[in-house]
Amino acid sequence: VCSSDLFIMFISKLLFGNFKQSEFGEDEEFKYKLLTVLIVSGAIFTLLLILASDIGANPIAGPHYTSMWIFSVVALLLWAVLRSRIHLVKQVAVCYEIVCLFEYVSALVYVPYDELRILWFYTNVPGVYILLGKKAGFIVTIASIAMICVLNGSLQTPYSSNALATGISALLYLAIFFHVYVDRSMSYYERMKASNDKLIEMATTDPLTGLLNARAYYDACDKQISLSHRMKAGYSVLFIDLDHFKKINDTYGHAIGDVVLKQTAHCLATNLRKSDIVGRIGGEEFSVFLPDTDQQHAVVLAETLRKYIELQKIDAGNGLLIQITASIGVSAEEGLGVSTMTELQKCADSAMYDAKHAGRNRVSVFG
Ligand code: GH3
Ligand code: MG
Ligand code: MG
Repeated sequence: VCSSDLFIMFISKLLFGNFKQSEFGEDEEFKYKLLTVLIVSGAIFTLLLILASDIGANPIAGPHYTSMWIFSVVALLLWAVLRSRIHLVKQVAVCYEIVCLFEYVSALVYVPYDELRILWFYTNVPGVYILLGKKAGFIVTIASIAMICVLNGSLQTPYSSNALATGISALLYLAIFFHVYVDRSMSYYERMKASNDKLIEMATTDPLTGLLNARAYYDACDKQISLSHRMKAGYSVLFIDLDHFKKINDTYGHAIGDVVLKQTAHCLATNLRKSDIVGRIGGEEFSVFLPDTDQQHAVVLAETLRKYIELQKIDAGNGLLIQITASIGVSAEEGLGVSTMTELQKCADSAMYDAKHAGRNRVSVFG
């Protein structure tokens, strides 16, 4: 890591605090960072103007000097709030824009010798559109135009009607430009996010049962295993295979077979803890990962699930109710000396085959 990287890391940590990227969407992250930069740069520029006034380089007298102090302090306070409560981006942005509007009026009225005194405020308009949307952007634009029109007559040196027209058209142009830009980019972002979410769902979910598919299931288990190792916690796996499922398809048809799979998936999902992971890893094969669970508790749960599956009555139409059973293999990490999902699943697989050979509809433990 070179020194410029270190410097950027330091500035980023100072500005944004302990911002955890994984907890926020891209859009939220962008808005949080943009607002931080707007507030901090607003405070720094104002403090520099105060300093310039103090050393006599650019004297600003009377009420606007006080107003600049208030603005800087409030901006820094808002930054502190934002840094510790990142989810308050919208509320902090509204407060900051209100403070800016006050500062705008103060500059307009109390700095009559500077013709460009409200130019800085124009740069705020894009920020309002991006952070708070089209409605807020429109309101701030209209409010600032209204204020200058109402106050101009009573200013010490009013703007000429020509200067007013130029200022207002620039502001309106900026507002229209960002209205269109925000409208387009938001609709593009939302469509992209929706199709991304859909792609992720398609890639990770089994369409029939809504459970995780094999790849997503194993990925989730690998992540949970790393976590369990760090916490020094045990874990177990159940491998569930429906008995004589081929016969169900042959007797009642594939569609009824699908209903059986769906109902079994539902039965598993509703009888497990939130922290357990369940996936459909084959045709009529399900696997369940149990974090923080030793062999003894895994066997008790397997037995409960086996009973629930057996107790299900599945409607095959015409008042016909089907009953199914399952064979379940259990493997627990404790004492086995295996530490990967592939190995653990293999052990559960072997235990499941033992259950099949022992007559099906039973739980068998590896080893
Ligand atoms: P065992 O007790 O030994 O497990 O017997 P089984 O009949 O359950 O075993 P086998 O693996 O031979 O049969 C699995 C059947 O599951 C075969 C296949 O047609 C069926 N199957 C796989 N995927 C689906 C599916 O998505 N829907 C339906 N309805 N059936 C499926
Ligand atoms: Mg099978
Ligand atoms: Mg089977």
